[in-house]
Amino acid sequence: MTLASKFSRQQPVRVVYFAGSGRSGTTVINNILGQLEGSFASGELRYLWQRGIVENRMCGCGVPFAQCTLWGDVMDRVRQESPDFTPMSIAGGLRSRLAVRRVPRMVARRIAGRSAVSDTPEDKAIVNAYRALSDILDGATIVDSSKLPPYGLLLDGRPELEVRILHVVRDPRATAFSWQRSKPTHDLGNDELMPKLQVWKSSALWALWNVLTLLVWGRSDRYLRVRYEDFVADPEPTMRAIAEHCGFSDASLPFVDPTTVTLAPTHSVAGNPARHSRGEIRIRPDDEWTRAMSRSARWTVTTITAPALLLFGYTRPSRRKGERVRTPSTLETGPAATHTTNS
Ligand SMILES: [Zn+2]
Repeated sequence: MTLASKFSRQQPVRVVYFAGSGRSGTTVINNILGQLEGSFASGELRYLWQRGIVENRMCGCGVPFAQCTLWGDVMDRVRQESPDFTPMSIAGGLRSRLAVRRVPRMVARRIAGRSAVSDTPEDKAIVNAYRALSDILDGATIVDSSKLPPYGLLLDGRPELEVRILHVVRDPRATAFSWQRSKPTHDLGNDELMPKLQVWKSSALWALWNVLTLLVWGRSDRYLRVRYEDFVADPEPTMRAIAEHCGFSDASLPFVDPTTVTLAPTHSVAGNPARHSRGEIRIRPDDEWTRAMSRSARWTVTTITAPALLLFGYTRPSRRKGERVRTPSTLETGPAATHTTNS
């Protein structure tokens, strides 16, 4: 162990946690942050145990997880320091402890000044993964796009971690449309598709997770909320604001022009297939949902999410015939890329 890594073990590991709901366009933001010096884009680290270790899915660097030398070093450290853990038990424990039905209890515990998610011995292994990553990468900030607020609450309750929150919100009609599309994961080298959600369910989860994120962290100076549509409309200044919030005030952003970034591969462990994107990626609005989404689906989303739509500034609940919505809603990569970048 180097002197630097010994020193860093005494400091909380810096984590930027993307909180909110799925398919909100966080993948490209995670990838861009991961290009900055002193930053590591982990993708959705809550899936490390299941999708990374157990299922051996593709790392963002292009090889299966078990063949990635970085993750090999990290897991060696974790096994040394937490020899009793099993990835299966950690993955199963997270699914159970972070379930939707437990959210009221988490909120009650948080209000009472306790850790929102009760501790278990396996949390030591979870925290050690963040610590090992940061130590191996000379104290890098871990940029985790897991999004699930209960997992963010678990991390935020650990004294070994210093967590900042980035809340990316996207129009729920766009996210509901994304949840219905069939997209290959590119994770297993087969034809596996990303999971789909019914419109009512994705709408309810959108409202739950975004409102919960706002309630839990909205008044903290560690919290920044960004509308995905604003990022797409004006990428570079928005990314500058995000980078400053994440502690990278003087960072050199990878923009080659106002809407194009150059991305090197990351070692993201899970997430939207856009995490595999590399090279020049053009950030541009894609309003496909405004043309292709059925009127009934749009009505369902708008009805279920109406109060939260107003809360987050989506004030036009539906599109009149032949009229385009005011805000662009999705982001697509450049012509060479094959994946959409929403997640
Ligand atoms: Zn890798």
